Amino acid sequence: MKPYIIGVDIGGTGIQSGLFDTNGQLVSTWNLKTNNKDRGSSIVEDVSQSIEKKLSEHQLDKSMILGIGIGVAGFIDRESGFIHESINIGWRDFPLKLQMEKRMGLPVLIENDANAAALGERWKGAGNGANDLIVMTIGTGVGGGVIANGEIIAGANGMGGEIGHYPLDPKNGFLCNCGKHGCLETFSSATGIVRHALEQVKRNPFGRLARLTKKGNNLSSKLIFQLAEEDDPEATAIVNQAADALGYTIAALGVICNPVYALIGGGVSQAGELLLSKIERSFKKYALTRVSDICEIKLCTLGQDAGIFGGAYLVQKNGSR
Ligand code: ZN
Repeated sequence: MKPYIIGVDIGGTGIQSGLFDTNGQLVSTWNLKTNNKDRGSSIVEDVSQSIEKKLSEHQLDKSMILGIGIGVAGFIDRESGFIHESINIGWRDFPLKLQMEKRMGLPVLIENDANAAALGERWKGAGNGANDLIVMTIGTGVGGGVIANGEIIAGANGMGGEIGHYPLDPKNGFLCNCGKHGCLETFSSATGIVRHALEQVKRNPFGRLARLTKKGNNLSSKLIFQLAEEDDPEATAIVNQAADALGYTIAALGVICNPVYALIGGGVSQAGELLLSKIERSFKKYALTRVSDICEIKLCTLGQDAGIFGGAYLVQKNGSR
């Protein structure tokens, strides 16, 4: 078997890549800026050149590469590797797999970025190779990946596992990026947390949160978590709400896919134990006992590297069939 794999994670602002051996050992990692100009037309060339440069640094030849696995943000067809739309990158109706294979002369596999991150965590991160697990990546939005029987649930047109848009409060919730109201990410993403904090400042203009904001503090999710650590009642209520929304969603998904782990990653997960313990409390409150008995809520362990590990896994799995 060819001894190396390339994993790539293409996002709206940056592209991360990794050189792996076929056991999933990360040999080297490198980053590029995403060039969104001209609807992302230079990206295939940019990524290809960076891979070739890295291979020559390591004195490796293309013939030693089993394949390239790529996680991409956006709506994709994983079988054909066709990108229907990737708003932040600029691609629309873009045959990524085809173009990349033509340019590099190597097999290329494509997956949605959140799903790739979930596969990475399962393979080499907190997922311990479990067959049934949920991964939630909480940052600006809430990304998700659901793995059942060892396979990503992609669904009929790729919308499976879009946990961020789980409709928690469609009647009264805030408007979400997707055009609907009250999705999970309007409660639990960094953006959602700040939005609820701003509402609280309006409701209580002489409270501590309002005073701190007027002092020139940026109202960030990090600040809200800091205040919650100090038992500030307004910040605690907002964090409780965000955690409750996550715990409820895991309980709801629990009766569908009965996971062993619910893994929490992304920037917001840096809040660590404070957030985890609150999610767990809500999860136990709402979930069927047999669902919560088997399911451990843990932090992801691969951080930013989850996507490239997932990309490499796609190739490894495909190659070992
Ligand atoms: Zn939504």
